[in-house]
Amino acid sequence: MSLATIRSLPEPTRQRLKDELRSGLMSDQDHEAYNKIWRAEHETQLSQALKDQQAMLAKKQDELKRWDEDAKAKARTWFGGDDEVTRKKLQERVDRIAALSKATSLDSFKPADPEKEGRFAYVYAKDESRTIYIDKAFHSAPATGTDSKAGALSHEMSHFRGVGDTTDHVYGPTKAKALAKKDPEAALENADNFEYYLEGAP
Ligand SMILES: [Zn+2]
Repeated sequence: MSLATIRSLPEPTRQRLKDELRSGLMSDQDHEAYNKIWRAEHETQLSQALKDQQAMLAKKQDELKRWDEDAKAKARTWFGGDDEVTRKKLQERVDRIAALSKATSLDSFKPADPEKEGRFAYVYAKDESRTIYIDKAFHSAPATGTDSKAGALSHEMSHFRGVGDTTDHVYGPTKAKALAKKDPEAALENADNFEYYLEGAP
């Protein structure tokens, strides 16, 4: 079944098809069919999130180029330093994520399996296909700003090996800020520090 066909189905039919696919043992083929339905339902949301993410990254690329007092202060808040090594590392990471975001299509997204309350998304760091699994909290997140869809995509993309190589030492703005003060090196490799930095979190 093509995406266009799935999109043209009336909602009750689509829902029934989804329930059927969800129940019982799913074959690989059924799984792919379910992913297609899911993508058709979230296409607009995901395309918009990618667009917002690219705009957010472009703004940060300008800021890193400018490197004025305001730009340095933001780096100090989230990474505990504003030296050239920090700046360079951030520039390279933002550039790689911007390139990945532009290369990301709808096929790069899959629904979380299983879903987990409060989780935005997850990835497998070594996954060469760069698949992003979208979870429940993503759908109700704001488009931009703190803990947003645009930020969540960047957080996840930063985990990929050879892209950002980040990990999750701590979560949340309070712990992320404390980590920047205590251990700048760890803050630079922590995905939430990077996300809040990009989002311009207060
Ligand atoms: Zn993470």
